[in-house]
Amino acid sequence: MYHALHALTDELRRLKAAGMKTVAVSEESIATLRRVVEARAANNSEVPRLGAPVREVTGQVTEVRTVTILQPEAPPEAASPLPARAPSTKAATPAVVVATLPNAPKVNLPTGDKKTRWAALLDAVVNDVTCRGSVRVGKKVVLGVGSLDAKIMFVGEAPGAEEEIRGEPFVGPAGQLLTKMIQAMGLQRSDVYIGNIMNWRPQVPTVEGQEQVGNRPPTEEEMRYCLPYLQAQIEVVNPDVLVALGSTAAQGLLGFGSFKALGEIRGKWHEFAAKPLMVTYHPSYILRNQSNRSKRMIWEDLLKVMERIMLPVSDKQRSFFSEK
Ligand code: URA
Repeated sequence: MYHALHALTDELRRLKAAGMKTVAVSEESIATLRRVVEARAANNSEVPRLGAPVREVTGQVTEVRTVTILQPEAPPEAASPLPARAPSTKAATPAVVVATLPNAPKVNLPTGDKKTRWAALLDAVVNDVTCRGSVRVGKKVVLGVGSLDAKIMFVGEAPGAEEEIRGEPFVGPAGQLLTKMIQAMGLQRSDVYIGNIMNWRPQVPTVEGQEQVGNRPPTEEEMRYCLPYLQAQIEVVNPDVLVALGSTAAQGLLGFGSFKALGEIRGKWHEFAAKPLMVTYHPSYILRNQSNRSKRMIWEDLLKVMERIMLPVSDKQRSFFSEK
């Protein structure tokens, strides 16, 4: 457990270096810290009072509050955008510590062609102090990729382990499946645009020196911070349709509390930034639920997208994953 305290203080140091002025600490984290401190006290060592390590590191903690982390919905009706969770490490890892973020950025795109505007956007994102401060040393801030003339823009949740290494969305296992789905539509990955609500991988404190294992869904605040960058990508690319992958992306676009289960809203047309928006399951849902039924559901949603942008649909494509 003491390792967990080290991990936490490391994280606070990193956030402080990135210019964060306040951090929010969940009740669970506080309980974990309390256990660490009490365990040390029981061992008769020199124990700082609870909270002292935090203040020592930041020097300016002004706010402690409970953080609500969005929970994925239960399969099969709803697609959890998260990969299967690693076995619980609650005892060893403090619950999420999320910095209080500044107001969402105002993105002013320059005039010019799409390439110029997208390059300016990339520059703004990778130099955004909050984005930079939210990734670990050696990891990357991630902006969308693909054709700037794409008719379809896919919107996922957040970069994962491989994405933050490569600085590109959907390059891990879920991304490989997304690429296959795009190919099944008769397109190449390079024909579409693929982005995320988040520009960084939401962090979970790790044991000192170790890589983050697993992912957590972004908080509402994190998503609000990054949303202007997604809106700017939509403005530059100007796709005909948007496709939200999974419930977290759908919540980010349609608003928190706008639906209870993904099953309520998937397969239907919605609207975001004056664009038609199709909501479907996240590819990682299919990775965990390899049934024909799950594949067919996502495929039916994609058929609607193909029809909307008048892509040809063959009989063979129409019958993919249908029950024999
Ligand atoms: N899942 C997402 O939602 N986005 C990625 O970039 C990768 C996995």
